[in-house]
Amino acid sequence: MNYDVIVIGGGSAGYAAAHAAQTAGARVAIIDRGPLGGLCILRGCMPSKIVLRSAEVMALMRRAEEFGLLPVKAGADPAAINDRKNRLIRQFAEYRAEQLRDPRFTLYEEGASFLSPREVRVGADTLSAKSFIIATGSTVADFPVPGLRESGYITSDDALAMRETPRSMIVLGAGPVAVELAQFFCRVGVRVTLIQRSGHILSKGDEDLARPVEARLREEGMAVYTGTQLRRISSGSGGRTAHFTHRGEEKTVTAEIVLQALGRRPCIDGLNLEAAGVAVEKGRIPVDAEMRTNQPHIFAVGDVNGLHEVVHIAIQQGEIAAYNAACPDQPPRSLDERLKTAIVFTDPQVASVGLTEKECRTNNIPYLAASYPFNDHGKSICLGETHGHVKYLCRPRTGEIIGAHIVGPQAAEMIHELIAVMYYRGTVNDLLHIPHYHPTLSEILTYPAEELAGKLECR
Ligand SMILES: Cc1cc2nc3c(=O)[nH]c(=O)nc-3n(C[C@H](O)[C@H](O)[C@H](O)COP(=O)(O)OP(=O)(O)OC[C@H]3O[C@@H](n4cnc5c(N)ncnc54)[C@H](O)[C@@H]3O)c2cc1C
Repeated sequence: MNYDVIVIGGGSAGYAAAHAAQTAGARVAIIDRGPLGGLCILRGCMPSKIVLRSAEVMALMRRAEEFGLLPVKAGADPAAINDRKNRLIRQFAEYRAEQLRDPRFTLYEEGASFLSPREVRVGADTLSAKSFIIATGSTVADFPVPGLRESGYITSDDALAMRETPRSMIVLGAGPVAVELAQFFCRVGVRVTLIQRSGHILSKGDEDLARPVEARLREEGMAVYTGTQLRRISSGSGGRTAHFTHRGEEKTVTAEIVLQALGRRPCIDGLNLEAAGVAVEKGRIPVDAEMRTNQPHIFAVGDVNGLHEVVHIAIQQGEIAAYNAACPDQPPRSLDERLKTAIVFTDPQVASVGLTEKECRTNNIPYLAASYPFNDHGKSICLGETHGHVKYLCRPRTGEIIGAHIVGPQAAEMIHELIAVMYYRGTVNDLLHIPHYHPTLSEILTYPAEELAGKLECR
Protein backbone atom coordinates (compact mmCIF):
# COMPACT_ATOMS: atom_id res chain seq x y z
CA MET A 1 0.00 0.00 0.00
CA ASN A 2 1.17 3.49 -0.80
CA TYR A 3 0.31 6.63 1.23
CA ASP A 4 1.23 10.30 1.22
CA VAL A 5 1.97 10.29 4.96
CA ILE A 6 2.47 7.40 7.37
CA VAL A 7 2.35 8.26 11.08
CA ILE A 8 3.95 5.75 13.47
CA GLY A 9 2.41 6.04 16.93
CA GLY A 10 -1.15 7.11 17.77
CA GLY A 11 -0.64 9.01 21.04
CA SER A 12 -1.08 12.78 21.46
CA ALA A 13 1.57 13.71 18.88
CA GLY A 14 0.69 10.98 16.37
CA TYR A 15 -3.07 11.51 16.45
CA ALA A 16 -2.61 15.29 16.03
CA ALA A 17 -0.26 14.67 13.09
CA ALA A 18 -2.58 12.20 11.37
CA HIS A 19 -5.59 14.47 11.81
CA ALA A 20 -3.72 17.55 10.52
CA ALA A 21 -2.21 15.69 7.53
CA GLN A 22 -5.61 14.30 6.56
CA THR A 23 -7.19 17.77 6.89
CA ALA A 24 -4.48 19.13 4.58
CA GLY A 25 -5.61 16.62 1.93
CA ALA A 26 -3.06 13.82 2.38
CA ARG A 27 -3.80 10.10 2.19
CA VAL A 28 -2.80 9.00 5.69
CA ALA A 29 -2.07 5.72 7.47
CA ILE A 30 -1.52 5.59 11.22
CA ILE A 31 0.21 2.67 12.88
CA ASP A 32 -0.02 1.90 16.60
CA ARG A 33 0.92 -1.36 18.26
CA GLY A 34 -1.55 -0.65 21.10
CA PRO A 35 -3.04 -0.46 23.56
CA LEU A 36 -4.70 2.54 21.90
CA GLY A 37 -4.79 5.72 23.98
CA GLY A 38 -1.18 6.83 24.32
CA LEU A 39 0.79 7.68 27.45
CA CYS A 40 -1.19 10.79 28.40
CA ILE A 41 -4.47 8.92 28.67
CA LEU A 42 -3.34 5.48 29.81
CA ARG A 43 -0.38 6.06 32.17
CA GLY A 44 0.44 9.79 32.24
CA CYS A 45 -1.38 13.10 32.57
CA MET A 46 -4.94 11.88 33.01
CA PRO A 47 -4.54 9.01 35.52
CA SER A 48 -2.12 11.09 37.56
CA LYS A 49 -4.43 14.11 37.67
CA ILE A 50 -7.39 11.89 38.60
CA VAL A 51 -5.63 10.39 41.63
CA LEU A 52 -4.12 13.75 42.63
CA ARG A 53 -7.65 15.11 42.92
CA SER A 54 -8.49 12.45 45.55
CA ALA A 55 -5.42 13.43 47.56
CA GLU A 56 -6.28 17.13 47.20
CA VAL A 57 -9.79 16.57 48.58
CA MET A 58 -8.31 14.57 51.45
CA ALA A 59 -5.82 17.31 52.26
CA LEU A 60 -8.66 19.85 52.38
CA MET A 61 -10.76 17.55 54.61
CA ARG A 62 -7.87 17.46 57.06
CA ARG A 63 -8.00 21.25 57.22
CA ALA A 64 -11.73 21.32 58.10
CA GLU A 65 -11.28 23.03 61.47
CA GLU A 66 -9.25 25.85 59.92
CA PHE A 67 -12.44 26.82 58.04
CA GLY A 68 -14.72 26.56 61.05
CA LEU A 69 -15.96 23.08 60.20
CA LEU A 70 -16.25 20.10 62.48
CA PRO A 71 -13.21 17.84 62.22
CA VAL A 72 -13.46 15.05 59.64
CA LYS A 73 -11.69 11.71 59.83
CA ALA A 74 -10.08 11.64 56.40
CA GLY A 75 -8.99 8.22 55.17
CA ALA A 76 -8.09 6.96 51.70
CA ASP A 77 -9.35 3.80 50.01
CA PRO A 78 -6.63 3.15 47.39
CA ALA A 79 -8.69 0.51 45.56
CA ALA A 80 -11.63 2.92 45.23
CA ILE A 81 -9.31 5.70 44.03
CA ASN A 82 -7.98 3.26 41.46
CA ASP A 83 -11.47 2.21 40.39
CA ARG A 84 -12.46 5.84 39.79
CA LYS A 85 -9.29 6.36 37.79
CA ASN A 86 -9.91 3.23 35.69
CA ARG A 87 -13.50 4.22 35.00
CA LEU A 88 -12.55 7.66 33.72
CA ILE A 89 -9.50 6.46 31.79
CA ARG A 90 -11.60 3.82 30.02
CA GLN A 91 -13.88 6.59 28.72
CA PHE A 92 -10.96 8.74 27.52
CA ALA A 93 -9.23 5.75 25.87
CA GLU A 94 -12.42 4.63 24.12
CA TYR A 95 -12.84 8.12 22.73
CA ARG A 96 -9.23 8.16 21.45
CA ALA A 97 -9.67 4.71 19.87
CA GLU A 98 -12.79 5.98 18.08
CA GLN A 99 -10.81 8.97 16.78
CA LEU A 100 -8.06 6.66 15.52
CA ARG A 101 -10.58 4.39 13.82
CA ASP A 102 -11.91 7.37 11.83
CA PRO A 103 -12.46 6.01 8.31
CA ARG A 104 -10.63 9.02 6.88
CA PHE A 105 -7.32 7.36 7.97
CA THR A 106 -6.22 3.77 7.67
CA LEU A 107 -5.31 2.44 11.12
CA TYR A 108 -2.90 -0.50 11.45
CA GLU A 109 -2.83 -1.99 14.96
CA GLU A 110 0.68 -3.49 14.77
CA GLY A 111 4.28 -2.59 15.52
CA ALA A 112 6.11 -0.74 12.72
CA SER A 113 9.66 -1.26 11.62
CA PHE A 114 11.49 0.53 8.77
CA LEU A 115 12.69 -1.56 5.83
CA SER A 116 14.18 1.39 3.94
CA PRO A 117 13.86 5.21 3.99
CA ARG A 118 10.52 4.89 2.12
CA GLU A 119 9.05 1.62 3.46
CA VAL A 120 7.86 0.16 6.74
CA ARG A 121 6.93 -3.38 7.68
CA VAL A 122 3.63 -3.66 9.58
CA GLY A 123 2.72 -7.23 10.45
CA ALA A 124 2.75 -9.06 7.12
CA ASP A 125 2.33 -5.82 5.07
CA THR A 126 4.90 -3.52 3.53
CA LEU A 127 3.70 0.09 3.34
CA SER A 128 5.37 2.92 1.49
CA ALA A 129 4.91 6.70 1.72
CA LYS A 130 6.28 10.02 0.53
CA SER A 131 6.72 11.14 4.17
CA PHE A 132 6.82 9.52 7.60
CA ILE A 133 6.10 11.01 11.02
CA ILE A 134 7.61 9.07 13.93
CA ALA A 135 5.59 9.64 17.13
CA THR A 136 6.45 6.59 19.22
CA GLY A 137 6.70 8.40 22.57
CA SER A 138 8.88 7.46 25.53
CA THR A 139 9.41 4.77 28.11
CA VAL A 140 10.77 4.70 31.69
CA ALA A 141 14.58 4.90 31.49
CA ASP A 142 16.95 2.57 33.35
CA PHE A 143 19.39 4.38 35.63
CA PRO A 144 22.63 2.76 36.70
CA VAL A 145 22.13 3.16 40.46
CA PRO A 146 24.08 0.27 42.07
CA GLY A 147 21.72 -2.29 43.59
CA LEU A 148 18.53 -0.63 42.32
CA ARG A 149 17.57 -3.30 39.83
CA GLU A 150 18.47 -6.15 42.21
CA SER A 151 16.50 -4.60 45.11
CA GLY A 152 13.41 -4.04 42.97
CA TYR A 153 11.53 -0.82 42.32
CA ILE A 154 8.28 0.47 40.93
CA THR A 155 7.77 3.07 38.19
CA SER A 156 5.04 5.67 37.66
CA ASP A 157 3.11 3.02 35.67
CA ASP A 158 3.00 0.74 38.75
CA ALA A 159 2.36 3.63 41.14
CA LEU A 160 -0.73 4.63 39.17
CA ALA A 161 -2.07 1.08 39.19
CA MET A 162 -1.71 0.44 42.95
CA ARG A 163 -4.74 -0.90 44.79
CA GLU A 164 -3.01 -0.98 48.18
CA THR A 165 -0.54 1.59 49.45
CA PRO A 166 2.70 0.67 51.23
CA ARG A 167 3.48 2.01 54.71
CA SER A 168 6.56 3.82 53.42
CA MET A 169 8.16 4.80 50.11
CA ILE A 170 11.44 6.24 48.86
CA VAL A 171 10.99 8.41 45.77
CA LEU A 172 14.09 8.79 43.60
CA GLY A 173 13.99 11.96 41.51
CA ALA A 174 12.26 15.30 41.83
CA GLY A 175 10.97 16.18 38.37
CA PRO A 176 7.22 16.84 37.86
CA VAL A 177 6.20 13.16 37.83
CA ALA A 178 8.26 12.33 40.94
CA VAL A 179 7.02 15.29 42.95
CA GLU A 180 3.35 14.93 41.98
CA LEU A 181 3.33 11.23 42.90
CA ALA A 182 5.35 11.81 46.09
CA GLN A 183 2.77 14.34 47.29
CA PHE A 184 -0.09 12.01 46.36
CA PHE A 185 1.33 9.12 48.40
CA CYS A 186 2.24 11.38 51.31
CA ARG A 187 -1.29 12.79 51.43
CA VAL A 188 -2.95 9.37 51.40
CA GLY A 189 -0.89 8.33 54.41
CA VAL A 190 2.36 6.81 53.10
CA ARG A 191 5.60 7.85 54.86
CA VAL A 192 7.50 9.33 51.91
CA THR A 193 11.19 10.22 51.60
CA LEU A 194 12.19 12.08 48.45
CA ILE A 195 15.83 11.97 47.38
CA GLN A 196 17.15 14.35 44.73
CA ARG A 197 20.64 15.06 43.37
CA SER A 198 20.17 18.75 42.46
CA GLY A 199 20.14 21.51 45.03
CA HIS A 200 16.37 21.94 44.72
CA ILE A 201 13.40 19.96 43.45
CA LEU A 202 11.98 20.71 39.96
CA SER A 203 15.52 21.61 38.96
CA LYS A 204 14.72 22.59 35.35
CA GLY A 205 12.95 25.72 36.62
CA ASP A 206 14.11 28.60 38.82
CA GLU A 207 14.92 27.80 42.44
CA ASP A 208 12.49 30.37 43.88
CA LEU A 209 9.62 28.45 42.25
CA ALA A 210 10.65 25.16 43.85
CA ARG A 211 11.07 26.43 47.40
CA PRO A 212 7.36 26.98 48.26
CA VAL A 213 6.61 23.44 47.00
CA GLU A 214 9.45 21.98 49.06
CA ALA A 215 8.17 23.88 52.11
CA ARG A 216 4.66 22.54 51.60
CA LEU A 217 5.87 18.95 51.14
CA ARG A 218 7.85 19.18 54.39
CA GLU A 219 4.88 20.75 56.20
CA GLU A 220 2.77 17.78 55.10
CA GLY A 221 5.29 15.39 56.63
CA MET A 222 7.50 14.37 53.71
CA ALA A 223 11.25 14.01 54.23
CA VAL A 224 12.87 15.89 51.33
CA TYR A 225 16.62 15.54 50.74
CA THR A 226 18.11 17.73 47.99
CA GLY A 227 21.76 18.08 46.98
CA THR A 228 22.39 14.38 47.62
CA GLN A 229 24.64 11.79 46.06
CA LEU A 230 22.85 8.47 45.84
CA ARG A 231 25.41 5.70 46.48
CA ARG A 232 23.37 2.51 46.24
CA ILE A 233 20.16 0.72 47.09
CA SER A 234 20.16 -2.47 49.15
CA SER A 235 17.36 -4.73 50.32
CA GLY A 236 16.77 -6.75 53.47
CA SER A 237 14.00 -7.92 55.77
CA GLY A 238 13.16 -4.31 56.71
CA GLY A 239 12.60 -3.28 53.08
CA ARG A 240 14.76 -1.32 50.64
CA THR A 241 17.46 1.02 51.90
CA ALA A 242 18.82 4.06 50.05
CA HIS A 243 22.42 4.88 50.94
CA PHE A 244 23.30 8.48 50.11
CA THR A 245 25.47 11.45 51.03
CA HIS A 246 23.74 14.62 52.17
CA ARG A 247 25.65 17.75 53.23
CA GLY A 248 28.82 15.67 53.61
CA GLU A 249 27.15 13.09 55.87
CA GLU A 250 26.49 9.45 54.98
CA LYS A 251 22.78 8.69 55.42
CA THR A 252 20.43 5.75 55.01
CA VAL A 253 16.66 5.62 54.69
CA THR A 254 14.67 2.39 54.64
CA ALA A 255 11.19 1.98 53.17
CA GLU A 256 8.90 -0.74 51.91
CA ILE A 257 9.03 0.41 48.27
CA VAL A 258 11.27 2.47 45.99
CA LEU A 259 9.59 4.56 43.29
CA GLN A 260 12.15 5.16 40.54
CA ALA A 261 11.01 8.44 38.96
CA LEU A 262 14.35 9.61 37.59
CA GLY A 263 13.12 10.12 34.04
CA ARG A 264 12.08 8.64 30.72
CA ARG A 265 13.84 7.95 27.43
CA PRO A 266 12.57 8.17 23.84
CA CYS A 267 11.01 4.93 22.62
CA ILE A 268 12.80 3.91 19.41
CA ASP A 269 13.02 0.19 20.15
CA GLY A 270 12.15 -2.00 17.18
CA LEU A 271 11.80 0.88 14.68
CA ASN A 272 14.96 -0.21 12.83
CA LEU A 273 15.95 3.42 12.24
CA GLU A 274 19.26 2.32 10.65
CA ALA A 275 17.30 0.98 7.65
CA ALA A 276 15.66 4.41 7.26
CA GLY A 277 18.99 6.21 7.66
CA VAL A 278 17.58 8.27 10.58
CA ALA A 279 20.26 9.55 12.95
CA VAL A 280 19.94 8.95 16.70
CA GLU A 281 21.87 11.02 19.26
CA LYS A 282 22.09 9.97 22.90
CA GLY A 283 19.01 7.79 22.45
CA ARG A 284 16.77 10.51 20.94
CA ILE A 285 15.90 11.45 17.37
CA PRO A 286 17.17 14.99 16.83
CA VAL A 287 14.96 17.29 14.75
CA ASP A 288 15.10 20.84 13.41
CA ALA A 289 12.42 23.51 14.02
CA GLU A 290 10.36 22.04 11.13
CA MET A 291 10.41 18.69 13.01
CA ARG A 292 12.54 17.05 10.29
CA THR A 293 15.13 14.42 11.15
CA ASN A 294 18.35 14.22 9.14
CA GLN A 295 16.15 12.54 6.47
CA PRO A 296 14.10 15.52 5.20
CA HIS A 297 10.99 13.40 4.47
CA ILE A 298 11.01 11.75 7.92
CA PHE A 299 9.77 13.77 10.89
CA ALA A 300 9.89 12.97 14.64
CA VAL A 301 7.41 14.52 17.08
CA GLY A 302 6.46 14.27 20.76
CA ASP A 303 8.50 12.52 23.44
CA VAL A 304 10.53 10.57 20.87
CA ASN A 305 12.55 13.67 19.92
CA GLY A 306 13.29 14.35 23.60
CA LEU A 307 12.73 18.14 23.35
CA HIS A 308 9.83 18.75 25.76
CA GLU A 309 7.94 15.84 27.26
CA VAL A 310 4.54 17.54 27.49
CA VAL A 311 1.32 16.99 25.62
CA HIS A 312 0.44 20.37 24.16
CA ILE A 313 3.92 20.67 22.65
CA ALA A 314 3.66 17.09 21.30
CA ILE A 315 0.42 18.16 19.61
CA GLN A 316 1.93 21.36 18.18
CA GLN A 317 4.92 19.41 16.87
CA GLY A 318 2.60 16.82 15.30
CA GLU A 319 0.60 19.52 13.53
CA ILE A 320 3.73 21.27 12.25
CA ALA A 321 5.25 18.03 10.93
CA ALA A 322 1.93 17.09 9.31
CA TYR A 323 1.68 20.42 7.49
CA ASN A 324 5.27 20.24 6.29
CA ALA A 325 4.79 16.62 5.16
CA ALA A 326 1.42 17.16 3.48
CA CYS A 327 2.14 20.54 1.88
CA PRO A 328 5.69 20.29 0.50
CA ASP A 329 5.03 23.13 -1.98
CA GLN A 330 4.06 25.63 0.73
CA PRO A 331 6.52 27.62 2.89
CA PRO A 332 7.36 25.31 5.82
CA ARG A 333 6.05 25.92 9.34
CA SER A 334 8.28 25.75 12.39
CA LEU A 335 7.92 25.51 16.16
CA ASP A 336 7.90 28.76 18.12
CA GLU A 337 9.68 28.08 21.40
CA ARG A 338 8.80 31.50 22.79
CA LEU A 339 5.66 30.26 24.54
CA LYS A 340 7.14 27.03 25.93
CA THR A 341 4.99 26.20 28.95
CA ALA A 342 5.53 23.77 31.83
CA ILE A 343 3.14 22.95 34.66
CA VAL A 344 3.55 20.84 37.78
CA PHE A 345 0.30 19.76 39.44
CA THR A 346 1.53 19.78 43.00
CA ASP A 347 -0.04 21.85 45.77
CA PRO A 348 1.02 24.63 45.37
CA GLN A 349 1.05 24.26 41.59
CA VAL A 350 3.95 25.55 39.52
CA ALA A 351 3.32 27.04 36.07
CA SER A 352 5.84 28.70 33.80
CA VAL A 353 5.75 30.17 30.31
CA GLY A 354 8.69 31.56 28.33
CA LEU A 355 12.14 32.16 29.71
CA THR A 356 13.38 31.37 33.21
CA GLU A 357 15.93 33.52 35.02
CA LYS A 358 18.40 30.64 34.62
CA GLU A 359 17.96 30.73 30.82
CA CYS A 360 18.30 34.53 30.68
CA ARG A 361 21.53 34.41 32.70
CA THR A 362 23.00 31.52 30.66
CA ASN A 363 22.21 33.24 27.36
CA ASN A 364 23.05 36.80 28.50
CA ILE A 365 19.52 38.02 27.85
CA PRO A 366 18.90 41.31 29.69
CA TYR A 367 15.74 41.30 31.82
CA LEU A 368 13.96 42.95 34.71
CA ALA A 369 12.24 40.73 37.27
CA ALA A 370 9.60 41.32 39.92
CA SER A 371 7.49 39.04 42.04
CA TYR A 372 4.55 39.26 44.43
CA PRO A 373 3.61 36.79 47.21
CA PHE A 374 0.22 35.12 47.61
CA ASN A 375 0.36 35.68 51.38
CA ASP A 376 -0.18 39.39 50.74
CA HIS A 377 -3.12 38.93 48.38
CA GLY A 378 -6.71 39.32 49.62
CA LYS A 379 -8.37 36.50 47.70
CA SER A 380 -5.65 33.95 48.55
CA ILE A 381 -6.01 34.90 52.21
CA CYS A 382 -9.81 34.35 51.95
CA LEU A 383 -9.19 30.93 50.42
CA GLY A 384 -6.46 30.00 52.93
CA GLU A 385 -4.08 29.34 50.02
CA THR A 386 -1.12 31.59 50.70
CA HIS A 387 1.92 29.56 49.57
CA GLY A 388 3.95 30.90 46.67
CA HIS A 389 4.26 33.93 44.44
CA VAL A 390 3.96 35.29 40.90
CA LYS A 391 7.08 36.37 39.01
CA TYR A 392 7.61 38.09 35.65
CA LEU A 393 10.65 38.72 33.53
CA CYS A 394 10.37 41.54 31.00
CA ARG A 395 12.55 43.38 28.51
CA PRO A 396 14.13 46.35 30.31
CA ARG A 397 13.28 48.89 27.58
CA THR A 398 9.89 47.89 26.23
CA GLY A 399 8.45 45.91 29.14
CA GLU A 400 7.54 42.99 26.84
CA ILE A 401 6.98 39.98 29.06
CA ILE A 402 9.47 37.25 28.16
CA GLY A 403 8.83 34.88 31.08
CA ALA A 404 5.95 34.47 33.53
CA HIS A 405 5.93 32.10 36.48
CA ILE A 406 3.39 31.26 39.15
CA VAL A 407 3.87 29.02 42.13
CA GLY A 408 0.64 28.99 44.09
CA PRO A 409 -3.07 28.18 44.06
CA GLN A 410 -4.64 27.59 40.63
CA ALA A 411 -1.32 28.39 38.92
CA ALA A 412 -2.12 25.93 36.11
CA GLU A 413 -5.28 27.86 35.23
CA MET A 414 -3.99 31.40 35.84
CA ILE A 415 -0.89 30.97 33.65
CA HIS A 416 -3.15 30.96 30.58
CA GLU A 417 -3.85 34.69 30.94
CA LEU A 418 -0.10 35.26 30.78
CA ILE A 419 0.30 32.90 27.82
CA ALA A 420 -2.35 34.95 25.99
CA VAL A 421 -0.61 38.24 26.86
CA MET A 422 2.74 36.83 25.70
CA TYR A 423 1.18 35.40 22.53
CA TYR A 424 0.34 38.98 21.54
CA ARG A 425 3.79 40.14 22.71
CA GLY A 426 2.09 42.09 25.49
CA THR A 427 3.94 44.27 27.98
CA VAL A 428 3.72 44.85 31.72
CA ASN A 429 1.76 48.01 30.89
CA ASP A 430 -0.79 45.95 28.93
CA LEU A 431 -1.29 43.75 31.98
CA LEU A 432 -1.97 46.84 34.07
CA HIS A 433 -4.66 48.01 31.63
CA ILE A 434 -6.49 44.67 31.38
CA PRO A 435 -9.39 44.80 33.88
CA HIS A 436 -9.35 42.16 36.63
CA TYR A 437 -12.48 41.33 38.63
CA HIS A 438 -12.31 41.73 42.42
CA PRO A 439 -11.78 39.64 44.49
CA THR A 440 -10.08 36.99 42.36
CA LEU A 441 -6.79 35.13 42.47
CA SER A 442 -6.07 36.57 39.00
CA GLU A 443 -5.85 40.11 40.39
CA ILE A 444 -2.42 39.21 41.72
CA LEU A 445 -1.20 39.05 38.12
CA THR A 446 -1.23 42.85 37.93
CA TYR A 447 0.95 43.44 41.02
CA PRO A 448 4.42 42.47 39.73
CA ALA A 449 3.50 44.26 36.48
CA GLU A 450 3.00 47.47 38.48
CA GLU A 451 6.49 47.22 39.98
CA LEU A 452 8.09 46.46 36.60
CA ALA A 453 6.25 49.30 34.82
CA GLY A 454 7.92 51.69 37.24
CA LYS A 455 11.39 50.33 36.44
CA LEU A 456 11.30 50.39 32.63
CA GLU A 457 14.05 52.30 30.80
CA CYS A 458 11.47 53.82 28.34
CA ARG A 459 8.43 54.92 30.33
C1 LIG B 1 2.99 10.02 35.20
C2 LIG B 1 3.03 11.02 34.07
C3 LIG B 1 2.30 12.19 34.17
C4 LIG B 1 2.33 13.12 33.14
N1 LIG B 1 1.61 14.26 33.27
C5 LIG B 1 1.60 15.18 32.28
C6 LIG B 1 0.82 16.36 32.38
O1 LIG B 1 0.12 16.58 33.38
N2 LIG B 1 0.84 17.23 31.34
C7 LIG B 1 1.60 17.02 30.22
O2 LIG B 1 1.59 17.84 29.30
N3 LIG B 1 2.36 15.90 30.11
C8 LIG B 1 2.37 14.97 31.09
N4 LIG B 1 3.10 13.83 30.95
C9 LIG B 1 3.87 13.63 29.71
C10 LIG B 1 2.94 13.23 28.53
O3 LIG B 1 2.15 12.13 28.93
C11 LIG B 1 3.77 12.89 27.30
O4 LIG B 1 4.62 13.98 26.99
C12 LIG B 1 2.88 12.63 26.07
O5 LIG B 1 1.84 11.74 26.38
C13 LIG B 1 3.73 12.07 24.92
O6 LIG B 1 2.92 11.88 23.80
P1 LIG B 1 3.51 11.12 22.51
O7 LIG B 1 2.44 11.19 21.47
O8 LIG B 1 4.86 11.65 22.20
O9 LIG B 1 3.73 9.61 22.97
P2 LIG B 1 2.69 8.49 23.41
O10 LIG B 1 1.42 9.04 23.88
O11 LIG B 1 3.45 7.59 24.32
O12 LIG B 1 2.36 7.71 22.07
C14 LIG B 1 3.25 6.82 21.47
C15 LIG B 1 2.45 5.75 20.76
O13 LIG B 1 3.34 5.04 19.89
C16 LIG B 1 3.04 3.67 19.92
N5 LIG B 1 4.27 2.96 19.49
C17 LIG B 1 5.49 2.97 20.08
N6 LIG B 1 6.38 2.28 19.33
C18 LIG B 1 5.70 1.82 18.25
C19 LIG B 1 6.07 1.07 17.11
N7 LIG B 1 7.32 0.63 16.92
N8 LIG B 1 5.12 0.78 16.21
C20 LIG B 1 3.84 1.23 16.35
N9 LIG B 1 3.44 1.95 17.40
C21 LIG B 1 4.36 2.25 18.33
C22 LIG B 1 2.59 3.40 21.34
O14 LIG B 1 1.72 2.27 21.39
C23 LIG B 1 1.87 4.70 21.72
O15 LIG B 1 0.47 4.62 21.52
C24 LIG B 1 3.11 12.88 31.97
C25 LIG B 1 3.84 11.69 31.85
C26 LIG B 1 3.82 10.77 32.90
C27 LIG B 1 4.61 9.49 32.75
